Amino acid sequence: MRHILILACTVISLLLCASTEDTEDILCWTERRLTFEDFKAVYNDSIHKAYPTALGLIEKTIRVNSKLKGDTITYVITACMKRNISWIKMIGDSATLIHEQAHFDICEIYARILRREIKSTTSKVEAKALWKLTTKNEEIEHDCFDSENCHVNGGVKQEWQSYIQNRLKELDNFKDPAVKIVY
Ligand SMILES: [Zn+2]
Repeated sequence: MRHILILACTVISLLLCASTEDTEDILCWTERRLTFEDFKAVYNDSIHKAYPTALGLIEKTIRVNSKLKGDTITYVITACMKRNISWIKMIGDSATLIHEQAHFDICEIYARILRREIKSTTSKVEAKALWKLTTKNEEIEHDCFDSENCHVNGGVKQEWQSYIQNRLKELDNFKDPAVKIVY
């Protein structure tokens, strides 16, 4: 059912020291649904010419912070939205809002997968490699999602809504951003 589009991956760096607290710009994923106010950028033809047909864009990333205390490393893994560079072309376009919310939910699914898998790593180098692989798989799913969901079907097909919500539920044990490991 899925075909995979290989597109250039978003360049994301592994942020080891950044805060995970919400700021004016950064919003960490929660159960709260996004609103139009969360999309603080305004669409501009010249700035956003790379997306001539897009109706909206959510910039999101999986952030990883790490703290070492004694022999225990704590990874804090969060799906974050960058509000200041996310936009919806037309305020009131609820189909696009729902569509962008689904992208954010997919990002949280992969953050949960990373929290689950990182426990089996044996070093920070391995953890970083796992993060890279996870974000690559995440990008593939975003592309797949975009190939099957657009404005004409209300932003997200029902089967995708269920698919996303079911996986969030299945990964409920991994919703805590903090993962402690002893290497
Ligand atoms: Zn999309």
